[in-house]
Amino acid sequence: MSGTILVVEDEPAIQELIVMTLKRAGHETLRAGSVEEASKLIDHALPDLALIDWMLPGASGVELTRRLRGNPRTQSMPIIMLTARSDEDDKLLGLDSGADDYITKPFSPKELNARIKAVLRRRAPEITDDIVETNGLMVDPATHRVTGDGVTIEMGPTEFRLLHFFMTHRERVHSRTQLLDQVWGDHVFVEDRTIDVHIRRLRQALEASGYDAYIQTVRGAGYRFSKP
Ligand code: CA
Repeated sequence: MSGTILVVEDEPAIQELIVMTLKRAGHETLRAGSVEEASKLIDHALPDLALIDWMLPGASGVELTRRLRGNPRTQSMPIIMLTARSDEDDKLLGLDSGADDYITKPFSPKELNARIKAVLRRRAPEITDDIVETNGLMVDPATHRVTGDGVTIEMGPTEFRLLHFFMTHRERVHSRTQLLDQVWGDHVFVEDRTIDVHIRRLRQALEASGYDAYIQTVRGAGYRFSKP
């Protein structure tokens, strides 16, 4: 599994280099050369992560980061700031504005990929390829396999995404709206009861192994993945 990464960089050669690196690592990419272009793309659909250059024509990358952090829709978007500056104060200002990490140009493809992976692990574990395991229930995003105490559990792709999301965000209560955004995608129109249908299917798939009890209904609030 890989994410959609928005690259906000005004220098075409650097933008191209970054996009090639990300594509080779299996990511989808979106490009913007200014804060204005980036804002339009973000309004249309949320990327899984944004790489934002500090120096942009017009409003700066720091300004864009501040705006994204100030908006409830984008406040938890993983952000890595790119900069040619190495001054410590600038670095602090970048992180202060809300960026999750900071990369100083020039950087190697290896470093860029490693930083992206680290930030996604911390902020959006549901889009990494890491195997997730809890009390004998195991989900492998790379092979789309689920096993319970070593036995294969069959389920559909939506149920798989739901289970993977739950297991990477344990113990938290997720409203139907949050599940819609996270599992079905931002701006996708699905009725609330569609979620209930997929929750029911997920429980049915897990029933034989007893893990269905981990998918808990929290009355009036939504659903939670927790040890019963
Ligand atoms: Ca620039």
